[in-house]
Amino acid sequence: MAEKQRTSERRRRPHERVHREKEFDRESWKPKTEIGKRVKAGEIKAIDEIINQGKPILEAEIVDCLLEGLENTLLLVGQSKGKFGGGKGSIWRQTQKKTPEGNKPSFATVCVIGNKDGYVGIGFGKGKETVPAREKATRKAKLNMIKVRRGCGSWQCNCGSPHSVPYKIVGKSGSAQIVLMPAPRGTGLVLQKDCKDIVQLAGIKDIHSKTFGDTGSKLNLIRACFNALQKLTEMRVHEEYVKRSGLIEGKI
Ligand SMILES: [Zn+2]
Repeated sequence: MAEKQRTSERRRRPHERVHREKEFDRESWKPKTEIGKRVKAGEIKAIDEIINQGKPILEAEIVDCLLEGLENTLLLVGQSKGKFGGGKGSIWRQTQKKTPEGNKPSFATVCVIGNKDGYVGIGFGKGKETVPAREKATRKAKLNMIKVRRGCGSWQCNCGSPHSVPYKIVGKSGSAQIVLMPAPRGTGLVLQKDCKDIVQLAGIKDIHSKTFGDTGSKLNLIRACFNALQKLTEMRVHEEYVKRSGLIEGKI
C-alpha cells in the first residue's frame, strides 16, 4: 500500500512542478524600452507584432502583458546525490567553488515558460541562492519566447488540425540531436521528460521523437529540443500543405 502511494506521488510530481504565473500588475510596471512603452500604452496588442519583425524582447513584462495563461516549470537538470547513484533528478544543478573563506555553493536551473497555445521559451539562471537563480531563469525564458508551428503532419492521422507538428524536424545543440516527428491523435508525447515539458508548454499534444549523440548531457538535449521548435518556423512550406496539415503559427 505504502509503495503504491509512493508511486502515485512520483507520477504526480511533474504536474506539481508546473506553476501558473502570478497575476501581472500592469499599472506598477515602468517600461524601460521603446517597445515596452508602446506595449504598456496599448499600441502593441499582440506579441506577434514584435516577433514577426524579428525584434528582440528586452523586458520580461512585455510577455506578461501580451500573453495570457502562462505556466512555468523548472527542468530536472541537476543530479541528486544519493546512496543509489541518484536516480530522480533535481531542478538544481549545484556547484562548489573553493575559496580561502571556504566552499561557496552556486545554483543553476532551467525554466520553461509557455501558454500551452503556440508560445514557449527557455531560460538558464545561475546564482548564489536558489530564489534569485530561479527568477533569473524565469525572466530569461520570457525574453527567449518563440512562436511555434503546429499542425497534423501524420499521414496515418491526416485530420488537418494542429495537435502535432506539421513535419519532421531535427534540432541540434553541441553533440546532442533530437528528431521531432508528427504523430497521430491520441499518441501523447513520446519524448524524454524535460523535452516533454517543453513541447507540452508549447501546446503540442502528440509527438514521436528520436535522440542521437550525447544525450547524457541534459542541457544539450533541452537546447536541441528548443532548437527543433525554433526551426519549425524557419521551414518554407507550400500553401497547399499549410491547408492540408492545418498548419498554424502561434495561438489557435
Ligand atoms: Zn491529426
